[in-house]
Amino acid sequence: MTEIHFTIDGRACTAKPGQTIVEAAKANGVYIPVLCHYEGLKPVGSCRICTVRVAGRYMAACTQPVTEGLAVENTAPDLEDMRKSLIEMFFVEGNHFCPACEKSGNCELQALAYRYQIMVPRFPYLWPGRALQAGPAKLMLERNRCVQCLRCVRGVRAKNGRKVFASIERGARVTIEIDAKLAAKLSEAEARRAMDICPVGAILRKETGFAVPIGRRKFDHAPIGSDIEKGAGG
Ligand code: SF4
Repeated sequence: MTEIHFTIDGRACTAKPGQTIVEAAKANGVYIPVLCHYEGLKPVGSCRICTVRVAGRYMAACTQPVTEGLAVENTAPDLEDMRKSLIEMFFVEGNHFCPACEKSGNCELQALAYRYQIMVPRFPYLWPGRALQAGPAKLMLERNRCVQCLRCVRGVRAKNGRKVFASIERGARVTIEIDAKLAAKLSEAEARRAMDICPVGAILRKETGFAVPIGRRKFDHAPIGSDIEKGAGG
């Protein structure tokens, strides 16, 4: 198989044909932050947290395939500040009260906020008031925390292949809806996966909260991206 040669911030990297910039970066020990991207799902490049620059052009690294000689800028200060501002926008656009959230310590948005050292967003809070969907048997949906990444829509299916989650409306009005009949038939593992696939605390498994105490969760042990970066050869 032909190896592709490219660089990230001047560092020589290799990729397999068909790999996206995010995938190849990870294989080379370089972390590119993502939020809407989830391994195993078709990338859509909607959140733009993974934006990199190639020859002066901005592109979503989760959807862009690597080609020979690509020179990717990943950590230029203006790119990092743009990512930080996007993360801040997610915080002000929803209601994210981390200390009271069941996903605290497992939340990718919270972990990214720590990585980018966000204290106070530079934008005004919108304080939306979105209805919860608490009716389904195994899952509940806290739409005030939803970042419209559509991971649930793309990645959670019932045994008959039908989507358990749907998005209605478009743009800023995108609203996620659980199919209650399909959700009721999910196994415990499938319901747990639905909660895990959500990068924030919008999808919650009912009846089993805080099984692992805050302080002993994934990002309490290691910052987001550190598992990729520790594999870096320098
Ligand atoms: S509910 Fe979670 S997984 Fe689904 S779109 Fe919202 S944030 Fe993404």
